[in-house]
Amino acid sequence: MSARPAVPAQGRATGVLALVREDLQGFGGYRSARSERLNGDVWLNANEAAWPNPGDPDPQAGHRRYPEPQPQGLCDALARLYGCAPSQLLVGRGSDEAIDLLVRATCAAGRDAIVVSPPVFGMYAVSARLQGVRLVEVPLVDGDHGFAVDLDAVAEAALASRAKLVFLCSPGNPTGNAVAIDAVAALARRLAGRALVVVDEAYGEYADQPSATTLLAAHDNIAVLRTLSKAHALAAARIGCVIADAALVGVLRACQAPYPVPSPCAALALAGLSGAALDGTRARVATVLQERTRLHAALAALPGVRRVYPSQGNFLLVRFDDAGTAFAALLAHGVVVRDQRAAPGLVDALRITIGTPRENDRVLDALGAREQAA
Ligand SMILES: *Cc1c(COP(=O)(O)O)cnc(C)c1O
Repeated sequence: MSARPAVPAQGRATGVLALVREDLQGFGGYRSARSERLNGDVWLNANEAAWPNPGDPDPQAGHRRYPEPQPQGLCDALARLYGCAPSQLLVGRGSDEAIDLLVRATCAAGRDAIVVSPPVFGMYAVSARLQGVRLVEVPLVDGDHGFAVDLDAVAEAALASRAKLVFLCSPGNPTGNAVAIDAVAALARRLAGRALVVVDEAYGEYADQPSATTLLAAHDNIAVLRTLSKAHALAAARIGCVIADAALVGVLRACQAPYPVPSPCAALALAGLSGAALDGTRARVATVLQERTRLHAALAALPGVRRVYPSQGNFLLVRFDDAGTAFAALLAHGVVVRDQRAAPGLVDALRITIGTPRENDRVLDALGAREQAA
């Protein structure tokens, strides 16, 4: 398969493309039948079946055809939602795929490094391990206002290790802290030409600050991860995206699987991004924020609770005198929360997702906060 290279083969790449793996310069990826721009009304170029599957519940939906590699309608809707150009956006199988693509496209196995600030979402380390990339850890600082990224230490570690990527999880999972947008910009400025700052905004809808996409015009070494899995309630659709410099998006596309967005998933996502659906989603987010405030206060007042961290996400990180007993008490009431005790610095902590008001009451009941109803 021949392909147009996403990265110029000749000469040194400039700008953010200089961060792409040297051995991928000139790499164009797989050229699928779907990516040829040809016209016709009898399509016999992709070895697809001539009839729908006999069991297909929607035979008119075109499921026998390979999907558009980047469904135009979905890309346009996501670009509108996130305030970027469609060319700055790559859709994939959740932001998990975007993390993996970023690591594989920029980091050479056995040589390069990424920087993360634990305790944090585990996929950065998993992708690094799979690619044979060194993981440089700059722990979050646990202070009076909750956890915070030590941005000076992160910058120094990135420069010292010649890291290609710095992952900022903002709001952080499981800690709930957001990185101030000015601080993201300052880090990107400090690492310009040296490393890409990846801002994972999986919980951005719950945060009270603007998205780092607002920094893209001024900084080509920022990439933002967004997903429909959390606030948009479409985790099963596996739709997430990376928003970045258009040339870098081209490189990531070349590294991606040929047909990464199944058409039933794209259709579901598009339905979830209609005006009415977005209004509903915003209302749900508002409810979550109210419940987050309520649950925070109620949990903080409980005996046995050491600390409830401020959160910009749809979850609360809670330290207990005895987290094992609290976990068991919740489980005995049928409530499953995330046990964080294996995470660095969180040996006494549980992460509790904000549920419906009734579900949150169940949490409080299980922990003995309210009089048990007869
Ligand atoms: C849940 C989560 C993701 C994964 O999102 P998908 O789009 O479902 O892959 C990414 N980053 C963080 C911080 C998360 O908590």
